Amino acid sequence: MKKRWGSLSDKGTVTLNTDLVKAPKECIDYVVIHELCHLKYHDHSKEFYTLLDFVTPGWEKIKHKLELSLV
Ligand SMILES: [Zn+2]
Repeated sequence: MKKRWGSLSDKGTVTLNTDLVKAPKECIDYVVIHELCHLKYHDHSKEFYTLLDFVTPGWEKIKHKLELSLV
């Protein structure tokens, strides 16, 4: 099962996993941006990823780095 780095409440509050403090800053930024994109799209639809690509080009690499840096 994959670790959850961040979540977004119905009220729009972003909650981050405390393990993120050990992650590189760009990874923290990625998680925050990912959750903020969910304010607009509440799923992982094509539109969501289009927005994510627009805001954070190369996010896949950052996500991969995040998964490798913390176990
Ligand atoms: Zn998500």
